Amino acid sequence: MALMPLATPDVRRHNLGLVLGRVLEGGQVARADIAEGSGLSRGAVTSLVAELIGAGLVEESDALHPEGMGRPRRMLVPAASAPCLLTALLDADRATVVAGTLAGAELVRASHRHGRPMGDPGAVADVLARTIDEVAGQLRAAGRRVADLCVVVWAPVAGEPPRVIADTDLGWGEVDLLALLRVRSAAVAGYETAGGRTRLVSDAEVAALAEHAAVGKPYSLVYLKADSGIGGAIVLAGGSGDGVRVIGAGLGHVPVVPDGEVCLCGQRGCLVTVAGPDLLLAESGLADVAARVGLTAGLHEFVARVRHGDAPAGEAWQRAAGEIARTLQILAFSVAPEIIVLGGFVAALAADVDARFRAIQPHMLGAGEFRVAPVVGSELGSDAALLGAQRDARLRLLVDPLAI
Ligand SMILES: [Zn+2]
Repeated sequence: MALMPLATPDVRRHNLGLVLGRVLEGGQVARADIAEGSGLSRGAVTSLVAELIGAGLVEESDALHPEGMGRPRRMLVPAASAPCLLTALLDADRATVVAGTLAGAELVRASHRHGRPMGDPGAVADVLARTIDEVAGQLRAAGRRVADLCVVVWAPVAGEPPRVIADTDLGWGEVDLLALLRVRSAAVAGYETAGGRTRLVSDAEVAALAEHAAVGKPYSLVYLKADSGIGGAIVLAGGSGDGVRVIGAGLGHVPVVPDGEVCLCGQRGCLVTVAGPDLLLAESGLADVAARVGLTAGLHEFVARVRHGDAPAGEAWQRAAGEIARTLQILAFSVAPEIIVLGGFVAALAADVDARFRAIQPHMLGAGEFRVAPVVGSELGSDAALLGAQRDARLRLLVDPLAI
């Protein structure tokens, strides 16, 4: 069979990514269906598929797709032994590591509490490294290689190489977490020795990407989450890659109270100083509970108390909901989002914020062009950042499939 004349390497890479993306999305798909949906010729698809099969990314399944009239067609599926994506999430309580397939299925998960040893990055890195190696060991036993290794932190990330900037949950200043992992984790060291580049990202950024995809890729979305501190990001359609840009992380530091309390960031009156989870736990008498059972469980109890009409928790929440609504009001005028998604523990209380948000802009309701965006709770729950990181990794790999 004659090969199609080769397009430029860039176009060929793009087309390989397009075809692989179809196979990953579809679960199983026939060559002819890929050709039909992509605008590529059948010959081109056949040639691209052959390369992907050769690279161990795609395989032919035993199942045949019966066509109405013609002969049955052999279906393509993601290769069972294809490399996978390793995502490590470090939050205020735990280290959680997930290995997923290129198609988005979860293969292995491990999670361990680190006990929140404040100001001791080495002790936290020990637990994270151990969890990464545990999952990597299971992958190795299953004969699978790691194609992408990404570490997600509940803190801002900056610099080159990327570092954690001030993780207030853990009492960290600037920490080179990847350097700490490299000397503790055989899997991280091995991945990098083999030419891989471990990535470090902020959870708000990748969670916002997952939320954006989950609500149907609107033109613009504001994502605000509260779990330890308050974070968030704005997602705008129309960028590169998946056609998405993430801007403006750190939404917990929108200064909503004039001359308010001094924040760790140096400004006064940041949202986190008046609606931060630690403050709400303290005001509702749950600080000790959170210290004992962990921040996430403490906040779970806080939400339960608000819902059951507990007075201290309810009052603390109503005040915080008002401040969150004011922050959203400021953002809504600057970004004009189509939808606002709340994540973390506030997801369960989004209706309260939505009501406050509407109440403080009465003249905007029904005022022609300006539409008040709905405020909804995340449906992805605590996995938003992990899901977003895996999705982001997959999109990065699709840019150059033969390098996977
Ligand atoms: Zn601040």
